[in-house]
Amino acid sequence: MSALDGPTGDIIAAEDAHLSRNYSPLPVVVSRGEGSWVTDVEGKRYLDLLSAYSALNFGHRHPAIVAALQEQLGRVTLTSRAYHNDQLGAFAAGLAELCGKDLVLPMNTGAEAVETAIKVARAWAYRVKGVAAGTAEVIVAGGNFHGRTTTIVGFSDDPEARGDFGPFTPGFVSVPFGDAAALDAAIGESTAAVLIEPIQGEAGVVIPPEGYLTAVREICTRRGILFIADEIQSGLGRVGHTFACEREGVVPDMYVLGKALGGGILPVSAVVADREVLGVIRPGEHGSTFGGNPLAAAVGLRVVEMLATGEFQERARVLGEHLETRLADLVGHGVTSVRVAGLWAGIDIDPAFGTGREIAERLLARGVLVKDTHGQTIRIAPPLVVRSTELDWAVEQLKLVLAA
Ligand code: PLP
Repeated sequence: MSALDGPTGDIIAAEDAHLSRNYSPLPVVVSRGEGSWVTDVEGKRYLDLLSAYSALNFGHRHPAIVAALQEQLGRVTLTSRAYHNDQLGAFAAGLAELCGKDLVLPMNTGAEAVETAIKVARAWAYRVKGVAAGTAEVIVAGGNFHGRTTTIVGFSDDPEARGDFGPFTPGFVSVPFGDAAALDAAIGESTAAVLIEPIQGEAGVVIPPEGYLTAVREICTRRGILFIADEIQSGLGRVGHTFACEREGVVPDMYVLGKALGGGILPVSAVVADREVLGVIRPGEHGSTFGGNPLAAAVGLRVVEMLATGEFQERARVLGEHLETRLADLVGHGVTSVRVAGLWAGIDIDPAFGTGREIAERLLARGVLVKDTHGQTIRIAPPLVVRSTELDWAVEQLKLVLAA
């Protein structure tokens, strides 16, 4: 009997009857999660090496985050920004300090934070830089993934993401990722900002050439445009630093954060920048019913406190080096190349050994959860609480899958 004949199959069939098919999930039905592990409805355990695309950097139900949530649940959960609440100020102060910036604008999802950053950059261009009304441009990078709104998919070059969803918002120019000279050449009078992921996650953990982020910083300063770093997936400990920009000691003008900021419990996102930039937004110009709600703020503050110790960044760095060594052994044995940054890896599978999806399904059967991206790549982003022995075991499973 395959798993799909039992409760797993019944649940998936019931889901399929009424759920829009905007995803094609792996055939596993999770019913519990703790730390780096999840358990399915049939009691089988899996090591979760995807971590909800880095939203679970602290693992499932981290006790310190759950405690912050429970404490706040007993008080007040939602006020809207029509009133003040007694959690948001502390969250903003903590997050601003973690980022070394002045101001925070809280939202919920990553895409909303990216949209926020674009609005801030445009307003800054008109009100501070003096760009002619209605002409501001934002430069983006090829291969980007910044979310799923109509504006954001409009500047994606992924045909699946753009599909039949036009017409798109004007005001975006795309240059190749990793090419600083192309960025410099694309800047004109109307350029407000460049928006990049310091490491492209969805593209398959694509790491730009060394010196690229430093060059982007230098160009933005010299040409008077804003450097917006989308650290939604790369940030908050994942690469062995609080931010991936720190790999080159670079500080952007605006951080865009999400995913792990919600501790794997709630959607919490934010844009963080200095007063000269984020101060351009006036009351009534931007907002969100749920953005900055006291429950999210209490959870977000706990996440910030956990990151402030540096413990998770250090784990990502040490475990990442270990993972890199283990994965390097697979190159030439079913794997064509591996890119590792902290505890984050893109593994390109030799097509002769199967597609990324097929490898993910075979790993699932062995109790390891990963996700394919762009056909031949599998991406892993283990919770930062994972043990090195668990990573070893997972790499062993991958080795066995490729040998089979
Ligand atoms: N930006 C980056 C770099 C991402 O990886 C993602 C999601 O994967 C987003 C933005 C969008 O975040 P959300 O799915 O929360 O809207």
